[in-house]
Amino acid sequence: MDNELKNICIVGGGTSGWLSAFLISNLTDYKVTIIDSDKVPTIGVGEGTTGIFTDVVIKNYVHKFNLNINELEFLHACDATYKLGINFEGWTKKDYFEPIDLLLWGRLSTIDVDHNIERSIVSHLVNSDYDMSESTYFSVLNKYNKNVRNDDVYAYHFDSDKICEFLKTKSNVTIKNLKVNHVLTNENGIDEIILEDDTRVKSDFFIDCTGFRRALIKELSDEWINFNQFLPVNSAYVYRENKQIANRYTNAKAMNCGWKWTIPTRSRTGNGYIFSDNFCSHDEAVRELDVEPDRLIKFDSGHLKYSWNKNCIAIGLSSVFLEPMEATSIHTTIVQILTFLELIRNNQFAIQYNNRVYNDYINKLVEHFRDFILLHYRSGKQDTEFWKYMQSDSVKTDTITELEEVLKYDLPTQDMFGSIHTNQTIPYGTTALWYFVLIANGMISKSVSKKYFEKLSDHDKQNTINQVQKFYIESRNLI
Ligand SMILES: Cc1cc2nc3c(=O)[nH]c(=O)nc-3n(C[C@H](O)[C@H](O)[C@H](O)COP(=O)(O)OP(=O)(O)OC[C@H]3O[C@@H](n4cnc5c(N)ncnc54)[C@H](O)[C@@H]3O)c2cc1C
Repeated sequence: MDNELKNICIVGGGTSGWLSAFLISNLTDYKVTIIDSDKVPTIGVGEGTTGIFTDVVIKNYVHKFNLNINELEFLHACDATYKLGINFEGWTKKDYFEPIDLLLWGRLSTIDVDHNIERSIVSHLVNSDYDMSESTYFSVLNKYNKNVRNDDVYAYHFDSDKICEFLKTKSNVTIKNLKVNHVLTNENGIDEIILEDDTRVKSDFFIDCTGFRRALIKELSDEWINFNQFLPVNSAYVYRENKQIANRYTNAKAMNCGWKWTIPTRSRTGNGYIFSDNFCSHDEAVRELDVEPDRLIKFDSGHLKYSWNKNCIAIGLSSVFLEPMEATSIHTTIVQILTFLELIRNNQFAIQYNNRVYNDYINKLVEHFRDFILLHYRSGKQDTEFWKYMQSDSVKTDTITELEEVLKYDLPTQDMFGSIHTNQTIPYGTTALWYFVLIANGMISKSVSKKYFEKLSDHDKQNTINQVQKFYIESRNLI
């Protein structure tokens, strides 16, 4: 990148390719070309989002940029439904519902992180047997208002093909429907790519959104950090049903060797059994599922060590995939695009600096998500070999080990949930949810909570109770 960056070439037209095209063409003046082959299928799954999709793409809350998306148009075009949370069925003795943001939990993260208040609130909730069930959550919703309001925080479920078509209509880009057959490199990274009709494409910068194929980035660096030890699930049997269900949440049901998702879009239901074939055969998985799945997807949990290398960046599945829990994939894709844009806006020519800062930043985020996902599995469930393995020391990362050590004696603070930098302009938003999962899993003991709460002064005790009440009231008013 010797000269000023003027044009960007994206290869791949799945969700990550079209999110990149949409955000870059609407937020910058770069000339964007997208090359995508309809002969190579997209992964065809990935239908649940986190709140960041709503914040950035639909509502523009965080960045205040105007992407001009009409929510109703989006909902209809993408067969989308509201996702207010995830219901964890069978993971713990009592099923629990993890909301995206609406009640107290989301609000914990917005308190100006005062660890004492945060811990006092957590201790009070554990002591008072806070009810985390889906039915309680929705009865609160129904009592105070039935509809999702414009300023609430929520996520979506959508049709993975339709989101690409929708973003295409909102992007100002040149489209070439051709396969990339060859990639030529030089000392600056990618020199040019050769398409199936033998045309050659040069560009100042390339974005690899070719999914698990990694068609571009593999020519520069394909050092892969494998997370299989910690997240052993590596297969998914997926299927769609032409039935509508009214749930405004993703259901995540614990299974013998993993878990099963159910995602309602407007006109159908998407399902998948995520499992580890180290613990059961494919036939056993199908038998447990008790339906004939549409297809099997194999994957490897982990990420590229260097997903930005010279003049090429890998975004989406080409750079990282953990597993579908908590919909971290589309979330990471959006953070990747915004981080990339922020870095090139500030220091376009500092290639080495940008590469290092970006890779450190994204790698830390991915580790943070790995540990967050892992935390869900530490639920005490031990009824199969898979679940026994998930409670064993083999899956413990440093963060989980340290956290479990703290939990024996004390309540944790958010900075123990993996070391991510918090960047004001790029939202992460999972730390409050860690508390939620810790409580649901029974990892925060009553005796530790009680001891913590008892030690508070009368003033602080009262203040905590008031805070919780205030949040409840505020949250209910919000809904
Ligand atoms: C089982 C499973 C469940 C998931 N569930 C969720 C979820 O609920 N929420 C979530 O956030 N994420 C989920 N994900 C991840 C999600 O699917 C991806 O983040 C999302 O679909 C983006 O994929 P992608 O665009 O990176 O890759 P793909 O969809 O694979 O797209 C790759 C594109 O590159 C093109 N291409 C490839 N090679 C070439 C070439 N040589 N020349 C030209 N074009 C080429 C293809 O045509 C295709 O268009 C899930 C993933 C899996 C495996």
